Amino acid sequence: MGKSTLFNRLTRTRDALVADFPGLTRDRKYGQANYDGYEFIVVDTGGIDGSEEGIEIEMADQSLLAIEEADIVLFLVDARVGMTVADQAIANHLRKQEKKCFVVANKTDGIDADSNCAEFYQLSLGEIHHIAASHGRGITLLLEQTLQPLIAELAALDEDVSNDDEELIDLYQEDSEDDSHQAFADKPVKLAIIGRPNVGKSTLTNRILGEERVIVYDMPGTTRDSIYIPMTRNDKEYILIDTAGVRKRKKVSDVVEKFSVIKTLQAIEDCNVVLLVVDARAGISDQDLSLLGFALNSGRSLVIAVNKWDGLDDYVKDRIKSELDRRLGFIDFARLHFISALHGTGVGHLFESVDEAYESATKRISTAMLRRIMDMAQADHQPPLVRGRRVKLKYAHAGGYNPPRIVIHGNQVHDLPDSYKRYLMNYYRKALKIMGTPIKIEFREGD
Ligand code: GDP
Repeated sequence: MGKSTLFNRLTRTRDALVADFPGLTRDRKYGQANYDGYEFIVVDTGGIDGSEEGIEIEMADQSLLAIEEADIVLFLVDARVGMTVADQAIANHLRKQEKKCFVVANKTDGIDADSNCAEFYQLSLGEIHHIAASHGRGITLLLEQTLQPLIAELAALDEDVSNDDEELIDLYQEDSEDDSHQAFADKPVKLAIIGRPNVGKSTLTNRILGEERVIVYDMPGTTRDSIYIPMTRNDKEYILIDTAGVRKRKKVSDVVEKFSVIKTLQAIEDCNVVLLVVDARAGISDQDLSLLGFALNSGRSLVIAVNKWDGLDDYVKDRIKSELDRRLGFIDFARLHFISALHGTGVGHLFESVDEAYESATKRISTAMLRRIMDMAQADHQPPLVRGRRVKLKYAHAGGYNPPRIVIHGNQVHDLPDSYKRYLMNYYRKALKIMGTPIKIEFREGD
């Protein structure tokens, strides 16, 4: 059918997040994509084999879940094969959904697309969109026609939500006025607690909230299932983005969370700082790394909590630490905390790193400072020779923040080896005391 081809075209990633969590089917892939500056998530389902009976079962198995999670469904049909019984069964299901569905006829290259696709109108799902995924043809138009209306809708909704945001802060301030004279000039730090099922997100959230005063406020809007919980700690305000749905349950043990990749990705997108919880006893799994990958891609600040650190003997602790080193060593900027959500050990210290990460990410750094640090780095350790000429860094300035971006101009900078780039990054990190957030350095040829 060409779904994977389309998926790869849209996401342009080689390593998509393959959802392989308990309670989820294996065959769904999640990838990040961008259209006209809008980030969106593409879900690729393994597909339906088309056997007449059993189609409901197949669909229930995974496509149904994907449909449920999605805002937009692209229903791919094969222009060369023509309409099949399976197509009709799927269309029957889709027509009953209150979802935006689009029929996309693939493989329209080299055939008379209009006459080949005419029969798909019988599916009663409206317009037939023609593409040739392997040639990349029709895809921009497809995105324009399918995403543009939703983008317009979301923009309108965003306005509402930002109004709600203000209301939320008002509500919060009213409540805090009694015993706090602190004026909250800044926006609260949004902290997303993410992680696989059973790592202890709910226990941690309750632990954090149990110690603090809480106003529960269900934020309406685009982030469907996560709950936004305002809280204060040491006179600072935060909004916890609770992906585990703690507040919807009476007890932690009440309902097993229905893990949703989409919900987690939205929380990452919407927060300032990601708190990734992993389970010390379960070790680092590929799913942990996938979630980490999404957090890194988004450029968000990051703190890692290694939970269930209670009751382990030293030998086991050492073993876990060296495994963490081996598997997480590549993210050198995130603070690692060993905690017990159950007993509360180490939980308070998390916030020190959360604050540090947020401050690091939003810090304004002067051009003079960036320039000076660049010169110092260059003096301490010269850039290498490339083709007999020394790479020369000439000028640096800020390119933005959250995450901090540094733009460096110079000669032959595109030839700088990765090792030197890493050296520069670490130099800046140390000099500016930036922790908890990635730093992006862009190199530009010339002055
Ligand atoms: P979630 O699915 O990520 O929200 O995980 P839960 O908070 O529901 O926790 C899953 C299980 O791990 C529960 O049985 C918790 O009691 C247990 N658990 C959570 N935190 C800790 C901890 O720090 N230490 C220990 N020993 N168990 C924990």
